[in-house]
Amino acid sequence: MKKFLALFLAVMMLLALVSCGTTTEVKTSESQAATQAQTAGTDKAADSNKLVMGTNASFPPYEFTDDEGEIVGIDAEIAAAIAERLGKELEIKDMEFDSLLTAVAGGSIDFVMAGLTVTDERKQQVNFSDTYATGVQVIIVPEGSEIKTVDDLEGKTIGVQSGTTGDIYCTDDYGEENVKQFANGALAVAALKNGQVDCVVIDNEPAKNFVKANTGLEILETEYAVEDYAIALAKESTDLFEDINGALKELKADGTIDEIIAKYIKAE
Ligand code: GLN
Repeated sequence: MKKFLALFLAVMMLLALVSCGTTTEVKTSESQAATQAQTAGTDKAADSNKLVMGTNASFPPYEFTDDEGEIVGIDAEIAAAIAERLGKELEIKDMEFDSLLTAVAGGSIDFVMAGLTVTDERKQQVNFSDTYATGVQVIIVPEGSEIKTVDDLEGKTIGVQSGTTGDIYCTDDYGEENVKQFANGALAVAALKNGQVDCVVIDNEPAKNFVKANTGLEILETEYAVEDYAIALAKESTDLFEDINGALKELKADGTIDEIIAKYIKAE
């Protein structure tokens, strides 16, 4: 009987403590709560009802602006499905590709989805979710170019999107002096069309879109590199990391991810 009483008292005390906690939380102002969350090492996104995604919206079919000026594409739709699962509102910020990782690491956005390749170097700065798609670095050339395979890139002027893996690999393999950086893929392709560069190294799906939208260009059959795409988060965003990976797993299992990809990438 004594044991029961002790247990009863313990439960009551616990309940009192819990309800106390809730009241304090309600009274705490938003900024105080944010500071507390930060000092406790948790992420602000876990407490807010909004998720802010950073991307570079000139990377079709992963992210691009539609006729109404809205950012759409595979990443935008997967992000919307994740946000819905987590009961949060999604906001998408269009930024320069090479400022995305600094922005997420610094906390001004909650996560990056940008057809972003997982690399060991980037892992030093951010955490990557499970992967949700595969990308291939390919080479776009003018039709009939003397560049036929990767081996022919030596000594050629290569156009890339600044800060991308295409940029990093080409700079490593062929030297900085042979690589011309552009703010986005469309500008690199425009430079290829007017002869400023001999080829463009970029991810395969955007490459297909660019080649379709421009006459006189083709994609070489040889693949430069095969990569995994994932969502990047700040190292501190441990709760959101778990939430996003959980949502991704469910969206993979129930076929949502495949459906979204199939909507934008038609099987050949
Ligand atoms: N997959 C490439 C990278 O992560 C390019 C991504 C992009 O241009 N949006 O570097």
